Amino acid sequence: MKIGFIGLGNMGAPMAANLARAGHEVTGFDLVAPCPEGVTSAQDVQEAARDADVVVTMLPNGAILRDVAAQVIPAMKAGAVLCDCSTVDVDSARAVSKLAQASNIGALDAPVSGGVGGASAGTLTFMVGGPDAAFKIVEPLFGIMGQKAVHCGGAGAGQAAKICNNMILGATMAVTCEAFALADKLGLDRARMFDVVSTSSGYSWSMNAYCPAPGIGPQSPADNDYKPGFAAELMLKDLRLSQQAAEAVNADTPMGARATELYASFVDNEDGKGRDFSALLPRFVSRSRS
Ligand code: NAD
Repeated sequence: MKIGFIGLGNMGAPMAANLARAGHEVTGFDLVAPCPEGVTSAQDVQEAARDADVVVTMLPNGAILRDVAAQVIPAMKAGAVLCDCSTVDVDSARAVSKLAQASNIGALDAPVSGGVGGASAGTLTFMVGGPDAAFKIVEPLFGIMGQKAVHCGGAGAGQAAKICNNMILGATMAVTCEAFALADKLGLDRARMFDVVSTSSGYSWSMNAYCPAPGIGPQSPADNDYKPGFAAELMLKDLRLSQQAAEAVNADTPMGARATELYASFVDNEDGKGRDFSALLPRFVSRSRS
């Protein structure tokens, strides 16, 4: 397949490299990042998109996606698919889909879970919104870049799934960290706490797979001085998207709202920027109630 790949940053570069390694003809473009091995460099976004069967985008936010989509769609051939894998707001995903449809281009919003490690290993999970026909065309590529692709529904459904998942993750990590800090103050050994909770009704991915307490459970960023992993500012981005979406549809999300406030304070006013999102644990340990 001929693939255009736009946005070759931390996630996009390894994803594009995996597509090229699997034998696809990949042409890439990024404003600053170089093309990874096996990917041909284009002069601009239009050149990357021209003649492509599928154009994949992996960009920082919805405004940039809208801007890139407006340039790329007119350059794409009819029947091709624009597959955006960035995490963006639901409205931007739907706006891009509408624009694409008007030019007889298929559009998918297909944000990912799995981080840079998953992008390199080709083990990402894709949450996909958009028409069946477009999903079928891109499905083999999801199989190369990832291990699972769930077709969640129409335009925007992939982004909706992503922000709901990450709202659960942010709130769950926050309460897992505060529970460890409370356990410390109650004199409960952290290893015993893990033994109990990881096999009891308080278990979660945050506790069992990504334990925020160093030296406990499987290896996680806590064991590497909280180097990300999944940076607190990326968690904050996704939580803000969840609250933006909740406002747009008038949904009551108090836990998501509190987690957003907490991460905003951690990233903007404390020492959270550049640290893993599980570094809320030392933050809670260093604080008292007031
Ligand atoms: P990144 O900042 O490393 O990469 C984004 C790239 O887009 C940069 O190289 C930038 O130069 C490029 N870019 C910006 N504007 C452009 C334009 N107009 N034309 C071409 N290229 C342009 O970010 P990342 O970590 O690769 O994340 C990409 C997306 O994936 C984000 O939406 C992020 O929320 C999402 N995501 C990231 C992770 C993660 O762990 N890093 C995990 C899941 C989802």
